[in-house]
Amino acid sequence: MAELPLYGPPKVGGDILAYCSKCQGEFSHVVVSMIDSRPAKVQCKMCKGNHNFKRIGDTKSRTISRTSTGESPRKRVVLAQDYWQQQMDLQKGKPLKNYSPKQTFQKSDVINHVSFGVGIVEEVKIDKKIVVLFRTGEKILVHALS
Ligand SMILES: [Zn+2]
Repeated sequence: MAELPLYGPPKVGGDILAYCSKCQGEFSHVVVSMIDSRPAKVQCKMCKGNHNFKRIGDTKSRTISRTSTGESPRKRVVLAQDYWQQQMDLQKGKPLKNYSPKQTFQKSDVINHVSFGVGIVEEVKIDKKIVVLFRTGEKILVHALS
């Protein structure tokens, strides 16, 4: 009965399993926009491409049972907002750093971004990019620019 048992009801900014024609499979996406209770546009977390929401059953005849191996397992499949709240609770009491691309951030830093609000640095990438979890979902920001 539940169509998306692992992901919960779709929400803008939340995670959802969707079919990506570029990556050729169902992967975790971020809901970009919704029409009624159905996601309209989604962003693929693998290729970062935006496209219309599609499930695998929408393109081919309904053969849902795909093998459940292959991709790296997600740490936890929850809505971005709930996950954000959990992460925020873990970082309670940490000083808030105002985001600026010139600043250098580290994993678990709590930052305040002018348009996205408060977020937690989830990952520091090598090419001066950080992955920040905001309430609305993950964003990739630049940092350590001089
Ligand atoms: Zn993709």
